[in-house]
Amino acid sequence: MEHRAAGGIEWVPAGEEHFTGRVWFGPLAPQPRPDSLNALGVLFEPGARTDWHEHPDGQVLYVVSGAGKVQTEDGETVELSAGDVVHTPAGEVHWHGSTLGSYMMHLSLTTGGPTQWRAEKVSDADYEA
Ligand code: MN
Repeated sequence: MEHRAAGGIEWVPAGEEHFTGRVWFGPLAPQPRPDSLNALGVLFEPGARTDWHEHPDGQVLYVVSGAGKVQTEDGETVELSAGDVVHTPAGEVHWHGSTLGSYMMHLSLTTGGPTQWRAEKVSDADYEA
């Protein structure tokens, strides 16, 4: 068993390649194989968001704190707050991030291997919609 007391998550920068703004990853569990459960805390600074992407086996998001939004390729947009849960099925193209005025932290649960990133960033027009 591994127990990390509160404050024991080691946050690392998510990097800039697939994100707009500053995003932090906090790994919650080892990932012994590339297709094992990937359990990740993700912290978005205000205005930060992912690029458009999809997940091979889908994704569960659980919003821990703050405010954000998620949008799918068909234009559906949902505002997020603490306690909300989002499931995007396998292959559904989407993005998620914080609002302009708030941080957001969510848990991300995926299996099936790495995120499939689209080339395009989320435009300001889509972000502000
Ligand atoms: Mn996602």
